[in-house]
Amino acid sequence: MRGPALVHTALFDLSGKVAIVTGGNGGIGLAMATGLGRAGARVVIAARDEEKSQAALARLQASSCDAVAVRTDVADPASVAALTAEVEARFGRIDVLVNNAGINVRRTAQELSLEDWRLVVDTNLTSAFLCVQAVYPAMRRAGGGKIINVGSLLSVFGASFAPAYGASKGGVVQLTKSLAVAWAVDGIQVNAVLPGWIDTDMSRAARRQIAGLEDRALDRTPAGRFGEPRDLEGIAVFLASRASDFITGAAIPVDGGYSVSL
Ligand code: NDP
Repeated sequence: MRGPALVHTALFDLSGKVAIVTGGNGGIGLAMATGLGRAGARVVIAARDEEKSQAALARLQASSCDAVAVRTDVADPASVAALTAEVEARFGRIDVLVNNAGINVRRTAQELSLEDWRLVVDTNLTSAFLCVQAVYPAMRRAGGGKIINVGSLLSVFGASFAPAYGASKGGVVQLTKSLAVAWAVDGIQVNAVLPGWIDTDMSRAARRQIAGLEDRALDRTPAGRFGEPRDLEGIAVFLASRASDFITGAAIPVDGGYSVSL
């Protein structure tokens, strides 16, 4: 008998796929890696801190995910090239790329150093350019692929303490659109996810540093809570699977209603 569960399984099945998740060793990246792994993909987590990556691997394996870690600095072109070369050599393919690695340096524009501007833009935006360039040949050869770029509410809104972060995340959305248009012909879908306030190391640091931020965020979020990293699992699976084959260039908020609330 063919029930709804079977239909859904096929639509979202990632068996045989290889997915790279940058910054996959914690927070949102680890949740997305877990979603992809549970849907059947072999997951490669690419981040700098090896201890954190080993702990994340243990968690992924405990969730029955097939996962490896490759130490990577996404702001370093040589490191990104080495990542994709290693993944291709070990697994022979790259089907999904999640550009999730990100940082913030919270200062107003008048206080932010050029060095910190470059660090944030290199880590959040230039990294995505480097990674998509590095995976494109493998995806093209395979006749398709899925690229998921992690933006932010600050892709759309402004914050006094986030000039470089906001510029980089706005850039992520515009990069997504250019890639979507260019690579649709190759069967590669490119979409962005805009997380709202999600409870991770990054947002905990923001709440410590910016007075009143926690209350403001909660007040404006119709769902009445911070998101959990696992709230991003579903969108990762959807955008990595054939369920989203005709969706490209979109920027999808996952924010408990924040972006539609006045
Ligand atoms: P975390 O700080 O928990 O995770 C950030 C991840 O990025 C870490 O795994 C870190 O690993 C990795 N990373 C940072 N710099 C580099 C680098 N140079 N090379 C490789 N990996 C790097 O934060 P979140 O999980 O919250 O953030 C994940 C993404 O979601 C970011 O892009 C962030 O901007 C975005 N986001 C988060 C929101 C939130 O509320 N939490 C809201 C909107 C967007 P390591 O240090 O080991 O390299």
